Amino acid sequence: MARIVMKFGGTSVANLDRIRHVASLVAEEAKDGNEVAVVVSAMSGETNRLVALVDALDADAAPDGIKNGTEIEDEYDSIVATGEQVTSGLLSIALRRRGLKARSWLGWQIPLRTDMAHSKARIAEIESSAIGPSMEGGNIAVVAGFQGVNDTGRISTLGRGGSDTSAVALAVALKADRCDIYTDVDGIYTTDPRIAKDARRLGRIAFEEMLELASLGAKVLQTRSVELAMNNNLPIRVLTSMAEVGEDNPGTLVCHEDETMEERVVSGVAYSRDEAQITLLRLKDKPGMVAKVCRALSEANVIVDMIVQGISRSDNAANLTFTVGKRDLDKALKALEAGKESIGFQGIKYDEDVTKVSVVGIGMRSHTGVAQTMFEALAERGINVEVIATSEIKISVLIDSEYTELAVRALHNAFGLHKAA
Ligand code: ASP
Ligand code: MG
Repeated sequence: MARIVMKFGGTSVANLDRIRHVASLVAEEAKDGNEVAVVVSAMSGETNRLVALVDALDADAAPDGIKNGTEIEDEYDSIVATGEQVTSGLLSIALRRRGLKARSWLGWQIPLRTDMAHSKARIAEIESSAIGPSMEGGNIAVVAGFQGVNDTGRISTLGRGGSDTSAVALAVALKADRCDIYTDVDGIYTTDPRIAKDARRLGRIAFEEMLELASLGAKVLQTRSVELAMNNNLPIRVLTSMAEVGEDNPGTLVCHEDETMEERVVSGVAYSRDEAQITLLRLKDKPGMVAKVCRALSEANVIVDMIVQGISRSDNAANLTFTVGKRDLDKALKALEAGKESIGFQGIKYDEDVTKVSVVGIGMRSHTGVAQTMFEALAERGINVEVIATSEIKISVLIDSEYTELAVRALHNAFGLHKAA
């Protein structure tokens, strides 16, 4: 007998037929006396629909002379959390109609306690004193993902994609034997199969690699869920919910690295079109200038990613190039314009048509020549590199978006990722 947490994303519960299918997968696991908790997302598109409702009303102007109300994040949370309430109830009914015992659990009913940060709350604690015994009594627990309750009793949500984090945290709290994340792909791939036809599913991937891939734009798992799993040494399996019961569906195991993984230098190639590039022209070349720029941006709540500085020796001026999230571009430009005098630069250039392409692999720690292979492969195709950033297990380059597919394919080939491991 085992204790299993299964998580189903939006496309897996997109309509009643998909929900019936999920019920069949859950029923299979609940056989033989296993204790099962299922975490569900909202039906696909539902959270976006709810967010759009909030945004539309939020954009209303207040009548003249009346000050606009301040924050609305508490109500945002109570609205967007409803998507998961619906799917947890529906799946519970589907399970009962198969003759199983099941009940839905909302965040506040467990309770899953969070901090006070509405719309991006962090989980503080999950009570298991009610849900645990219920599962031991043979009830399948169908948990609404993405939501919790804060110390003032208000509903909170964990940030977009947060059901993954709900599932991992629940698995840790319940001391589960397994945490299976069902999604619309059958595992983690060496790169996006829509771009490279010969991309392969990885049998295993290290937590660290998955963290890089998750934050680099492979949107299969929420980054925080991977962090949480890594810190608690909980392996997670990513697999497809589209398979039939009994069909071979090994997925990808995200776990601590082992020797076989180290032998492979690069595990994957990721890309992200969510970046924008900004260059400050003729910034004074003296200590503290970059700090000033970063301060202006952080005060505007903009996260800076890659940074390079090109110095012209002749006149003590430098061009500073960096990237920010595309969504933050306007905010960043405004903050920089406002600080033009106090920071001290001559002009701003920006470019939204850029893509960050990255190669990731824990093997980089112990192998040399990765950078050389990467830059040669790009150079052979005439792809110009604008900005470079590295970590111990990753090299990222910023290139013109036009070359995204070409670069991804070239790198996938250069590192032999198309060949069976
Ligand atoms: N429904 C939420 C979202 O779309 C949470 C999730 O699916 O993980 O972001
Ligand atoms: Mg997701």
